[in-house]
Amino acid sequence: MATTVYNNHLLTSSFIHHFPYTKSLKHPTLTSFLTPSSSSPTINKTLCSSSSTKEGDGPKKRRRSSYGSSRKSVLRKTFKQEQVTFTSPLSSDDPVVAIIGGGMSGLLCALQLEKRGVRSTVFDTGIHGLGGRMGTRYIDEMVFDHAAQFFTVSNSVFRELVDEWSQKGLVRQSQGVIGELEAGGHFFPFLSSPPRYIAVNGMRTLADSILSQSSMIEVVRPCWISSIEPYNGMWHLSENGKHRGQFDATVIAHNGKCANRLLSTSGLPLIARQMKRLELSSIWALLAAFEDPLPLPGKTVAPFEGAFVKGIDSVSWMGNNTQKLSNSPNAGPPHCWTFFSTPSFGKRNKVPQENIPNATAEKVKQLMLAGVENALGLETGSLKKPIYTRVQLWGAALPTNTPGIPCIFDPLGRTGICGDWLLGSSLEAAAISGLSLGNHIADFLKSGGSRPDEFAVGLHEDFHPLQGHDIGQFPGLESNKDICEAEVQVGA
Ligand SMILES: Cc1cc2nc3c(=O)[nH]c(=O)nc-3n(C[C@H](O)[C@H](O)[C@H](O)COP(=O)(O)OP(=O)(O)OC[C@H]3O[C@@H](n4cnc5c(N)ncnc54)[C@H](O)[C@@H]3O)c2cc1C
Repeated sequence: MATTVYNNHLLTSSFIHHFPYTKSLKHPTLTSFLTPSSSSPTINKTLCSSSSTKEGDGPKKRRRSSYGSSRKSVLRKTFKQEQVTFTSPLSSDDPVVAIIGGGMSGLLCALQLEKRGVRSTVFDTGIHGLGGRMGTRYIDEMVFDHAAQFFTVSNSVFRELVDEWSQKGLVRQSQGVIGELEAGGHFFPFLSSPPRYIAVNGMRTLADSILSQSSMIEVVRPCWISSIEPYNGMWHLSENGKHRGQFDATVIAHNGKCANRLLSTSGLPLIARQMKRLELSSIWALLAAFEDPLPLPGKTVAPFEGAFVKGIDSVSWMGNNTQKLSNSPNAGPPHCWTFFSTPSFGKRNKVPQENIPNATAEKVKQLMLAGVENALGLETGSLKKPIYTRVQLWGAALPTNTPGIPCIFDPLGRTGICGDWLLGSSLEAAAISGLSLGNHIADFLKSGGSRPDEFAVGLHEDFHPLQGHDIGQFPGLESNKDICEAEVQVGA
């Protein structure tokens, strides 16, 4: 049997020995909640029984969608809801898992489930493709990675996967110079840095290719799952009232407001509570294309590919996509740059990200371009006007706290969570989390679901603050002990 090992604790029964449900027994509500013989009327109520209704009928009485609810009501629902406890045996010997979210974590969870012989369906909202925060914008001949820029690799299992992607020509190491750029045009290249990987045609192409050779994974997109409801021993998913299938187990592979709302009426209070503890930064992205190369800062003699900007509120990262993707400092025009703000700038200028007022977009653009000018040490007003710009707000950009555990799984409700925030704030963290949860659910399904207590993970873990760059953690550029030490054994 495959096992997931994290910091020398097995994520199967022996791990649970260290972090069992009993960890919560001091808490009176949770104690009764988790004790099968509890007399509390609101707990341990079996919402899903295979004997009560006909398989596949769907819930008789559907609850009203919680979408559009106020934050207060989401909170109230989250903490008041009853725990779903699946008592029926798993539906068949060919279970199917629903994965809600097609970012790095959800995709690798699906991949690992397939490796273990388990079918899954990945639901994602992406209109243009999969990937979530591995987004790339293709505008005429211009290409911009508008969230994740590159990734580093410190975990051996992730390394194997990245080597495979390299062999397939999906990713390669980036050779361009990156470093720190201090206000006034002082650039300090990183003299030694761990290998940085980029997706050769933009991050989104990597996301869209990860499942291309799979045979047991269905992808449904664009699809926004608005409700998950337990019925008849299965999870029933729907998108604004439209039934999207029934599943033996569910994975929440996204976070933020959307996940909080989805979980607030799901019957998964422990999972919902953990999700609510997560705190996220907000970051503005400015995509800008220039006719001419940007002037080199200060005494720099060669163009740099990317820089963590220091001492400027409106800019924390600037990356030359054209140089990165062409692997040449002389490529272009156009010269396509991605600029990111600091989280404090993001927070101060926050607006609804789906509906950015024109005035805010213009203000943010001007402030960020002024920040670039300052970073490069140029005279005010001397930066040449870009030929193309677009601003975007990442309202739920990066986690700022973490439970520091690869995944969360509630075996009573047969639901897990994966995502970057469980271990850190990077593509690597998301990848390891997805692989771990896929493996854990495969173990659980193989067990037949009859020993749920052995499979509870992360339901009561405390959170701690995350350190790192504003756009993620990159071991070597910034150490991340949690990721380096996570050993994931994912054999069949
Ligand atoms: C500005 C920025 C820069 C970054 N730069 C880097 C970098 O250079 N290197 C690095 O390693 N990391 C970087 N990161 C972090 C990295 O992008 C994330 O850690 C990683 O992509 C997270 O993957 P995930 O699977 O956890 O979540 P996501 O990528 O967020 O995936 C979640 C998916 O679920 C979908 N979804 C949400 N709700 C639903 C629903 N109800 N139904 C269906 N689908 C749903 C979303 O649309 C999304 O596609 C950056 C992030 C940001 C915001």
